[in-house]
Amino acid sequence: MTERTVIAIDGPAGSGKSTVARRVAAHLGYRYLDTGAMYRAIALLALRQGVPLSDERALSALAREARIRLDGDRVFLGEDDVTAEIRGREVTRSVSPVATVSGVRRTVVERQRVAWPGEALVVEGRDIGSVVFPDATLKVYLTASPLARARRRARQDGRPVREVLAEILERDARDEGRRDSPLCRAEGALVLDTTGLSIDRVVAMLVRWIRGALAE
Ligand code: C5P
Repeated sequence: MTERTVIAIDGPAGSGKSTVARRVAAHLGYRYLDTGAMYRAIALLALRQGVPLSDERALSALAREARIRLDGDRVFLGEDDVTAEIRGREVTRSVSPVATVSGVRRTVVERQRVAWPGEALVVEGRDIGSVVFPDATLKVYLTASPLARARRRARQDGRPVREVLAEILERDARDEGRRDSPLCRAEGALVLDTTGLSIDRVVAMLVRWIRGALAE
């Protein structure tokens, strides 16, 4: 076990991770670390600077130089608030190729491990329980059917479900199929299928699991 409380939440796009992780963190007074936002910020930087997504060396250098700051719900690149921009379609399309680059992952993972030393965390991503915090207090793998996930995202973004579904399946395949730190169910992770479950219900279940893990 790590000395501090770390709740690792992994899962594919649209599984409800971000909303649930944010709510659980607020409920328990823990810090919330959105690791996808860090990869998204680097993808945005690559797009802005015209770095080809196939140039692994340049992307790794960009990750090392990037001044990413997470402040509550806001994401900054240097002084620039990029919270909305990193959720845009262009970044969403480019982020998983960027996240396959080992040099990028090395830098981002190091930063995740030193974020808010000593404080209790809810950390959400794809490799948190497997790679970043393998000794987490509790590991959860959130999932849902591809259609349910696409419907949620389509509703959020006001786009056709079919289009979003195709993008989600492509991103899942890349995240699950990459060599370095693929999206997977970490050893010891509790799996929760959120298809048909309300956010409130999922949050309540997680809070119960966390209290149980802390009492052990
Ligand atoms: O969670 P979110 O959709 O913001 O993540 C964006 C992308 O960042 C994912 O599709 C994945 O490629 C990458 N990612 C990752 N490892 C994490 C978090 C996100 O590879 N821990």
